This record gives sequence, structure tokens and C-alpha cells, in this order.
Amino acid sequence: MPERLLPLAESMRGRLAHGLNWYELLPLLDDVAVLALGISDHGQLELQRYLAELNERFDHFIDQLHITSEGHNQSQDAAHQLDRSLREQVGGLRDSVNQAPDAAGLRRVLENRLDGLVGTLDEHRKQRELRDQETAERLQGLAQRVASMEQEAQHYRENLEVQRQKALLDPLTGLPNRAAWGERLDRAISQREQEGSDLQVAIFDLDHFKAINDGYGHLAGDKVLKIVATVLGRRLRSGDFLARFGGEEFVLLMPETQPEAAAALLETLRSSIEACPFHFKGERVTITVSIGSTAFASGEPGDSALKRADQALYKAKAAGRNQVQQS
Ligand code: GH3
Ligand code: MG
Ligand code: MG
Repeated sequence: MPERLLPLAESMRGRLAHGLNWYELLPLLDDVAVLALGISDHGQLELQRYLAELNERFDHFIDQLHITSEGHNQSQDAAHQLDRSLREQVGGLRDSVNQAPDAAGLRRVLENRLDGLVGTLDEHRKQRELRDQETAERLQGLAQRVASMEQEAQHYRENLEVQRQKALLDPLTGLPNRAAWGERLDRAISQREQEGSDLQVAIFDLDHFKAINDGYGHLAGDKVLKIVATVLGRRLRSGDFLARFGGEEFVLLMPETQPEAAAALLETLRSSIEACPFHFKGERVTITVSIGSTAFASGEPGDSALKRADQALYKAKAAGRNQVQQS
């Protein structure tokens, strides 16, 4: 080997001895080419062209390898194995180049070595692609599972909301039930406290309802309760809240309402029930309702006001029913 090439050969040996990453392969091969050209006496042009082509092919393979190596979390084992086998093969290349007698021999040696390297890179790429495909499939499977779990969760959420709503409704009349009333009453009271606004509450009790059941049957009684709920509901204002309190009793919250306005509304409601054309067993039956109402005092709890409304209702009953009493 010519003297001037010795430092280059030495540095290549050093790089090989230190361990070679796959991306260091290309510069090393460039140096191999320089070395090969330097030690070859003839056929230099042909060899140069050949080595240039060799470089291109390697370029391509290393690009491919780069593409497949990027992205997903790399398998350390595979990378190390590739590194090892490339190092071995390039190490062997060095010895073979040194031993090559002439350009043709060098060409054969390089072709053999190239085949080996190409095979190694190919194998690595295939395994990498396989792993990528498996990873992609696993990710897709996971994404599908997440999507279906999200759908299930959404379904349960909706179902839960439906159940919650059902739990707050009276099945016979479709009105809010006593549980819903409790929630709403608390909210209305705290709103009243914050705003210092008026809040009225009324209790409705159907008159002689037992007689309806006794005279026309329980189903007729149920039908009356449904119709009464519908008739009352139709005449409410937007902020009013009507609930079935139990049995043949209803309660009504009237936020931001003064006693006079409440009295007027309650009178309308009372008369609309009285005017309802019920017919049982071919007879026109008049249903009436007694109503007691009151205004919330400042800081007054719900039961206290309800008790007063109930006392007003008792007064309405005692005074002959089918009337509104305020206290
Ligand atoms: P008053 O004018 O004093 O209120 O007399 P009333 O007969 O309405 O009062 P009472 O409390 O004696 O009777 C209420 C009746 O309401 C008794 C019960 O059978 C009936 N009732 C309660 N809930 C229902 C129901 O869901 N359906 C039917 N059909 N009847 C009911
Ligand atoms: Mg009653
Ligand atoms: Mg009654």
C-alpha cells in the first residue's frame, strides 16, 4: 500500500475497532473506494465508476434502512444485531481488500461483500416491516377497542341520564315527583335568598276524591289524576313548577310571584279543573280542587312554608272546598 494512504487506512481500522453504527457505513465505504483507487495501478476509471454505483446502491439501502428505522420505538435487540453483523462484514471487507491481488479481484471481493451486506440490510428491513405492521395492527386494534369502549360509556351515560330522569317523574301523571320537587324547592329557596325575590307555594288537594274511586273505580280515579295534571300544566307560566306530591295532592312553586298574582293564577287553575267535562257511567261529573297557598318569608325553610300552605288548604276544605285560601 502506498505510504500516503497509510493514515487513511489506519483511521479506518480505528473506526472499525471502535464499533460502527449503520449510518457510519457510507462514509467508510467512501474511504474504502479512496483506498481501493489508491492501491490499484490500472483499471482505475472502471473501478471508480463501479465504486460510484456501489455507493449509490448503498445510499439507497441505507435510506431504506433509515426510513424503516425511524418512527416507532426501535427494537434495541434488532438494531444491535444489525450493528454487530455490519461491523463484522465491513471488518472482513477491510481484510479482503488488503488481500486483493488486482482490480478484478477487488471487484469480486467487493461484490461478495456487497451481497452479504445487502442480504443483511434486506433481512433487517423485512423484520422491521413485519414489526411495524404488527405494531400498526395492535395500535388499530387498541384504537377500535377504545372507540367501542367510548361508545359503551356514552351509552351508559345516556341510559343513566334516562334512568335519573325517570326516577324524578311520576309514572301516572308524567309530572315531577316528590324527589324532583325537593331538589327544585331547595334551588328556588336559595335563589329567593340571593335575589330577595318573592316565592309562593301552593298545595292542591282534589275534593272528595275517595268518592270518585268508590263510585267509578280506581281506574277512573287514575284518569282524573292524569287529566287534572294536564289541565293544570297547560295553564302554568314558564317559571312555575308543578309536582305530584302524592295521592291526589299536587304542589306548585311560583318564583318571582307576589301574593296577588299567585291568587289570580290559582283561581284560574281552580276554575279550569271545575270546568273539566268528566263523564263516568254516562254521567257528567264535576271534579273540584281545594288550594292553600302562602308566601315564603325571608330565610324560611321549605317545610315551614309548606306547613302554612297546608293549613290554608285545611281552611279551604273547612270553608266548603273548591276554593283558594292564602295565609
Ligand atoms: P277531601 O276532599 O277531604 O280531600 O276528601 P278525599 O276523599 O279527597 O280525601 P281522602 O284523603 O279521604 O281520600 C283520598 C283518596 O285518594 C284516597 C285514595 O284512594 C285516593 N288516591 C290516592 N292516590 C291515588 C291514585 O294514585 N289513584 C287513585 N285512583 N286514587 C288515589
Ligand atoms: Mg288528600
Ligand atoms: Mg282529597
